[in-house]
Parts: sequence; structure tokens; C-alpha cells
Amino acid sequence: MKNIKNKSPFTSVIHAGQHPDPVFGGVSVPIYQSSTFAFQSAEQGASRFSGEDKGYIYTRIGNPTTKALEDNIASLEGGFGGLGTSSGMAAITTVFMAFLDKNSHIISTDAVYGPSRTVVEDVFSNFGVEYDYVDTSELKNIKKCIKSNTKLLFVETPANPTMNLTDIKDCAELAKKNGLILVVDNTFASPILQKPLDLGADIVIHSLTKFLNGHSDVVGGMIVTKKEDLFVKIQKVLRMMGGTMDPHQAWLILRGVKTLALRIEKSQDNALRLARYLESHPKVKWVNHPGLESHPQHTLAKKQMDGFGSMLCFGLKGGFDAGRKMINSVKICTLAVSLGGVESLIQHPASMTHASVSKEEREKAGITDDLVRLSVGCEGFEDLKEDLDQALAESN
Ligand SMILES: *Cc1c(COP(=O)(O)O)cnc(C)c1O
Repeated sequence: MKNIKNKSPFTSVIHAGQHPDPVFGGVSVPIYQSSTFAFQSAEQGASRFSGEDKGYIYTRIGNPTTKALEDNIASLEGGFGGLGTSSGMAAITTVFMAFLDKNSHIISTDAVYGPSRTVVEDVFSNFGVEYDYVDTSELKNIKKCIKSNTKLLFVETPANPTMNLTDIKDCAELAKKNGLILVVDNTFASPILQKPLDLGADIVIHSLTKFLNGHSDVVGGMIVTKKEDLFVKIQKVLRMMGGTMDPHQAWLILRGVKTLALRIEKSQDNALRLARYLESHPKVKWVNHPGLESHPQHTLAKKQMDGFGSMLCFGLKGGFDAGRKMINSVKICTLAVSLGGVESLIQHPASMTHASVSKEEREKAGITDDLVRLSVGCEGFEDLKEDLDQALAESN
């Protein structure tokens, strides 16, 4: 494996965890599309099961293609190791399964990805898990909720879809003081723009479906931990619960990751320019993007992130009625949920991604009915601007 320590992100996305195929020298990691792996002898089989021999056994337990992706992303995040999962939600629920038990308590960002919240409220609550959802951009809100049975602090920053930020370093100190495990959903930023483990988090999770794969054609997830003991605990749960990644899925995502730094560079440049354009448009009431000086946590964004990302949200003066007309009128942007692809996607969280969260809870979390979310892609800036311009013209 190549040594990519202290190399540019453009280099590390391509080379981290990668090596030519040892059999034929193929430069691209092969797809080991096999559910099981042959043992040379009964003795070797036994020593694989005992863990003495690190070779492969069965794909739910481990697969060389998946391992190449796990090593790549663990390296980008600066972690001890990575665990590929079938989806981002499988990554989240596996971590919850590993650390939440009967009567334990989790504190989380109120404006998290919808299902990350409803899975706790509707499923984990059936097993006796208690929860509090708060605006984690203010540390005092978290402090107020810490109880003797609090196990996990799960934050998403930038948060979906409000683009509010949480100070990871502050949360890490608080978590350490109170014996909590800090988990950060780093999907919106990607490891190119934000490295939660370096800022003190214990675990990072990703929906690889978004920026890391980047082409809106695969679903996948990843868990990266800083510490071996956490890694071993989560790995055990993942192998038993079975939310593991498929090798073909791993290979596609590995191909996507190689252009991550390039895609982020282009899409976040587009996003900041579009945010500025929208902010100056007479029909637009408000815009939220961490790169705007008007973002309440612009200073934190500059401190904690290496760029402002490609996500933004805004509201029109005409409220959601105007917003609906606008998102029905786009021609280059696509009306669809999900994010982080090369194509720009526009959607309405209150009636789509966050419809499962009650209106009262949505309003409390800042997910207002007029909020339109835009995931900016890699198209030409002028084409995107022109598209929004004509859609806004249709919006009265
Ligand atoms: C999409 C998403 C998830 C869930 O990921 P899936 O791959 O759809 O299961 C979790 N967190 C965030 C921030 C997301 O955007």
C-alpha cells in the first residue's frame, strides 16, 4: 500500500488503502463477488475462525473489495478502521445497537436527517431507549439534557436541512467530561471539508450514498472509529446484525470516491456563488449557507471546516406556495431528494425528507414550511444560475 500520509486530498482519495491486484496486477481493485472463501486446509479454516489467520471467511464477516473502501475512507477520516454498511441508516443503527441498551439515553441534534431521528423515536424507544433532540449549536442545550444514563451524543453538522453547525471540539470536551461517546454524521461535509475524529469525536458515520459515491447511483454507509475497542465492539454487532456492504456496491463507491476532492471543489464553488446570487434576489427572503457572511456560524465554519460545502437552503418571500412553483419550474436542477451527486437536486423537506417529523418538532428545529433545500452539483455555474433565475421568474 502506498504511503499517503500528509498528502493533498486530491492524492489521498485516489490512493488511500489501494494497491494493485496481487494476482494479475490490475490497477483497479477487483470486485471479489464471492460470498465465501476457500480454506487450504481444515487447520487454516480453524485459525481463520480463531482470528489468528486474518484471511477471509464469508462476505458478511469481511470482503477484500469492501476492505479496500473501508481502508480508503478510514484513511481520509484519520481513523483506526472503517466498517462498510449496506446504507447510511445501517451505519447509524449499527452504532446505536452497539452502544444503546435498555434505559440508556441519547442526545442528538434536532435537525438531523429525518430517519436518524424517527428510528430512535419509533423503534429504539420500544427497547427502552430514552432520547432528547436539541439544538446542538448551543452547548448549553446539550449540557441541560445530560443524565446519569446518557451514553451517546449524536450530532450532525452541517445539519440537514437547516445548515446549522455544531462545534465538534466543544462537544468532544463535553462528551469526555461526562463519559459519553461522541458520534458525528459527517455526510454533509465529507472528510475533504471536515475531520471530526481530529476534532475529538469518537465515531464518524457517513451515508456514502451522497458525496462520497457522488453519482446518485448507489446506496451505502460507513462507520469510522478512532479507537480499537470501539471498532471491535461495532464490528461484532455489524457482523451479527448483518447490515454489511456488498462487494459490488463497495467497488462502485470506491470508483466514485476517487473524484471526491475534484467534485467538492467544483460544487462548493458553484454553491457559494449561487447562495450569493439567491441572497441578492428580490424574491428571496432568506438563504442559509455556511459560506455566507450572514450565516450565524460563519466563523465556526471557517474554524472547523476546510470549505463550506455544496448544500444550501432558502425561503421565498411568497412562502412555500412560491417555492412549490419554483421547484416545479427548474429545468437543469432535478426535483428529487438525496444530495451530493454530480447533478443539482432540489427538494422541499417539510413535505418530503422531513415529513415523518411532526410539524411542531420541525418548526422547533428550524425546518420551516418555506424551506427549500438545494444540493449543488458540478454543472456550469452560469447554467445553474440561469435555471434558478427562470424558475424564480415563474414563482409568483
Ligand atoms: C442520506 C443520509 C443518511 C442516511 O443514509 P442512507 O444511505 O440513505 O441510508 C444519514 N445522514 C445524512 C446526513 C444523510 O444525508
